[in-house]
Amino acid sequence: MGRVVGVLAVQGDYAKHMEVLGRIGAPAQEVRTVEDLDQVDRLIIPGGESTTVGLLLQRFGLGEEIVRRAGSGMPVWGTCMGLILLAREVEGRDQWTLGLLDVKVRRNAFGSQVNSFEDSVEIDGWEEPALGVFIRAPVVVDHGPEVEAFAQYQGQIVGVRQGTIIGTSFHPELTSDTRIHQEFVSK
Ligand code: GLN
Repeated sequence: MGRVVGVLAVQGDYAKHMEVLGRIGAPAQEVRTVEDLDQVDRLIIPGGESTTVGLLLQRFGLGEEIVRRAGSGMPVWGTCMGLILLAREVEGRDQWTLGLLDVKVRRNAFGSQVNSFEDSVEIDGWEEPALGVFIRAPVVVDHGPEVEAFAQYQGQIVGVRQGTIIGTSFHPELTSDTRIHQEFVSK
């Protein structure tokens, strides 16, 4: 299997993640099918539309396989929509998710599309904050004891980790800051 980073590529900004992985020299592959997933040893779920991607993941059995692989230790990192799809629960909605992170998320937590913005995000253990790009971003409104909140913005949780599963509300792939990508591919 090697150390190949998969990027879920059914919809959304997966090309940006592929670009960053190229820039940092990490072998990467787009994942659209269960067969593609077999080729990778970790997975990034990009930003996009969680309802649409959720439907596609259910239809082709890819969602089930992601859950199975994650259960046997495959690291997964979701940005924005990816965080929503990883969550156990979506506030106020009966939305299908992978349920790999014991968190409850609020979709579009900062307002509608026009409220997309950039600002500094405090990351635990980092001296320099990250530049957070938020696009109709979710936040974590509740989480279980096994979840570590490692990034905050204005008192809201925007980055979480539970074992090998990571979720961020913001989009590091849209900035020149490759630290989170580097961390994800090297662990
Ligand atoms: N608001 C989108 C959703 O609910 C997520 C936005 C994004 O990934 N940029 O799926």
